[in-house]
Amino acid sequence: MRLWQHPLADLAAAASLVRPFSGPAGVHAPAPAPADPPPRRHAATPPRRHAATPPREDHPMESQATRMHAVTAETAKIVDLVLDYSRRRILASDTPLDKPISEFELDRLAGRTIDENGIGARRALALFEHVLAPACITTDHPQYLSFIPTAPTKAAIAFDLVVSASALYGGSWLEGAGAVHAENEVLAWLANEFGLPSTAGGVFVQGGTLGNLSALVAAREQARLTLREAGTDHPGRWKVVCSAEAHSSIASAARVMDVDVVPVDPGPDGVLRGDAVRAALEEHGASVFAVVATAGSTNFGIVDDVASIAALNDEFGFWLHVDGAYGLAAMLSPLARDRFAGVERADSLIVDPHKWLFAPFDACALIYRDPETGRRAHTQHAEYLDTLTETSEWSPSDYAAHLTRRARGLPLWFSLATYGGAAYRDAITGSLQLTQDIAREISSRDGVRLVRDPQLSVVVFEREGWSREDYAAWSARLLDEQRAFVTPSSHAGRPNTRFAIVNPMTTFEQLVGILDTMA
Ligand SMILES: *Cc1c(COP(=O)(O)O)cnc(C)c1O
Repeated sequence: MRLWQHPLADLAAAASLVRPFSGPAGVHAPAPAPADPPPRRHAATPPRRHAATPPREDHPMESQATRMHAVTAETAKIVDLVLDYSRRRILASDTPLDKPISEFELDRLAGRTIDENGIGARRALALFEHVLAPACITTDHPQYLSFIPTAPTKAAIAFDLVVSASALYGGSWLEGAGAVHAENEVLAWLANEFGLPSTAGGVFVQGGTLGNLSALVAAREQARLTLREAGTDHPGRWKVVCSAEAHSSIASAARVMDVDVVPVDPGPDGVLRGDAVRAALEEHGASVFAVVATAGSTNFGIVDDVASIAALNDEFGFWLHVDGAYGLAAMLSPLARDRFAGVERADSLIVDPHKWLFAPFDACALIYRDPETGRRAHTQHAEYLDTLTETSEWSPSDYAAHLTRRARGLPLWFSLATYGGAAYRDAITGSLQLTQDIAREISSRDGVRLVRDPQLSVVVFEREGWSREDYAAWSARLLDEQRAFVTPSSHAGRPNTRFAIVNPMTTFEQLVGILDTMA
């Protein structure tokens, strides 16, 4: 009985429906000669570590048990296929935006791919290239302007392959010292940019949501400790104070921790300030274990007045956490740095390299002013882990709510090491400038208006007279025509839309072209 069928005709049909990127002409066209000196490690002598094992001929008696792991002609072919695809994808400049299709359609086009015998790498990869990948929006496309996009550098994407190929364990010094060392150099570099002391440190976690949660858990642990030491009563409910426009992950962390959120209204400009936070602290007293300042709100890219919030610390004594998942990257640019005064007083902060620091998914840098506070809150204890936890060595697992971890900071490390910090400053400055340019354009046009002046690289604007349905239909048409991915949003009950710009390849002309479709 044939359970599934995958005629080539179907693949061809799918391929014509969805235009796959073509990649540069000649996949194996010789690359320009590298300017860098050859790596020292492999200089002179033939490569010591990865001298290619000559593939064994496929042997009929090759044990099925080792077939997937042994280096054979079959495995070499699989690796070539995958690396060739990756090379084409990374170097393509015409990858379409693409769009989701229905589960029904995917079922029809992809058919059944998993059975007892396998369909083979060539077929599975063709399915991915022609059916599955085109049903995923290209998040690093220059006209992907929704949510917070991603725009990994070529070096960072390429090195992500190396991280996978190397089977690194990023959880402990014992197992991953070299990787952890490099990740820590990045964290130290970032901490220095943000004005934290050189003793600051932390860990790359999966995303901002887990970063915020881990920081707040450390904050509460610290508050508990302080109360215990002072012999004071435990408050009935722990509370975290943040802007009413703070990211949803703060509320999510509070639910997980079973603590309450005290939302404080920011000013009409969206900026949370010290006076409003003071009122909340006076009302809720010692039950407040943390105040979260947002350094670049997701919806508007607004930076709270961190300095005036931090100034309250002398009087009230709380843990200051700065959620800079999207926006803190802008501290690298002289155009925006001034907006972040006070960040240097944070007890903890996060920034997502997968947002505006040009690293691939998924990575959040979580940094503690005093890493010991994170370690105290998060180290897991178990007999089999004692050998790791009873040392003074730096184990990234100890600094967040996780254990096994990918060395996900390494793509950023490699990219930073490759291009240097100035390239990052220039790229971020470019998006800040483009945002100002397009905001000016919006202000000068009839029929559209800014909802708020942009501070960083998010522009929120309204089209006069449009309902939610109008925005939705327009947005769907843009994606349908593969022109752009710009989704509807809203503020204070009014519908609007926004451009979130982090991709250095996004141009003014592209954005103007999108505005023209609103006429
Ligand atoms: C994106 C974002 C988060 C959540 O980060 P994830 O990596 O998506 O989990 C938290 N806070 C802010 C301000 C963000 O922009």
